[in-house]
Amino acid sequence: MSHTAPDATGHGSGAAVPAIEVRALCKNFGDNEVLKGIDFHVEQGEVVCVIGPSGSGKSTLLRCVNRLEEPTSGTVMVEGIDITDSETDLDDVRTRIGMVFQQFNLFPHLSVLRNLTLAQQRAKKRGRAEATEVARRNLEKVGLSEKADAFPAQLSGGQQQRVAIARALSMDPDMMLFDEPTSALDPELVGDVLEVMKQLAREGMTMMVVTHEMGFAREVGDRVVFMDGGVVVEQGKPEDVLGNPQHERTKLFLSKVL
Ligand code: ADP
Ligand code: MG
Repeated sequence: MSHTAPDATGHGSGAAVPAIEVRALCKNFGDNEVLKGIDFHVEQGEVVCVIGPSGSGKSTLLRCVNRLEEPTSGTVMVEGIDITDSETDLDDVRTRIGMVFQQFNLFPHLSVLRNLTLAQQRAKKRGRAEATEVARRNLEKVGLSEKADAFPAQLSGGQQQRVAIARALSMDPDMMLFDEPTSALDPELVGDVLEVMKQLAREGMTMMVVTHEMGFAREVGDRVVFMDGGVVVEQGKPEDVLGNPQHERTKLFLSKVL
């Protein structure tokens, strides 16, 4: 689905607005300045990989995009809508944003299928039959059709994460935000999850991916953003940022992870 700008945003009518546009974003936790004026955007259909050392503010940035964290100052626009505006219907904006975290956060007492239908019925007001149909379609997409009746504890970590992706997709989001989706997985389980994410990217999904998987960033990312100390240090095409970094901090980081 493509959204065009309402006239009030100042974008030309008919022009595609960025999926995400963050300007001068600052976030403090007490006297800890975690984000120090971030400018960041994701175009519709773009895959942006965010990399950087632990503690650099990657998760905080991602969480500000759907206001799981309240920005201290600056603006966050989602499809042209200012989500820091008190008038904005946050629930509506959030239904357009699928989130996948390091921890899968599945309901342990519910079957895989029920994990996928619950939010559809509650937030999208779908009937059980429609929700089930959508759920089965998305389970098939992540290669887990046969696990519909299983419980999360009966699945591997990689399978649970693919269920979490299918659950997010079942809400028909316009974009997907991933926060280190493979960091909690045993190494041999990482590949299947990345493969599902690659497929999504090929289908044109708009994606913001915080990741330590440099191979994924290089292969799938349209753009790589390197953060350190609460600022965007460097960004550009994966081959440039990863292959020919311009800043010392980027070089230092890459020398440790590549
Ligand atoms: P990253 O994802 O890059 O590892 P985070 O965004 O998780 O970094 O954290 C950046 C900094 O913000 C860290 O110093 C962390 O301790 C702090 N921080 C993150 N979330 C909170 C919170 N809810 N309360 C207080 N401090 C936080
Ligand atoms: Mg993080």
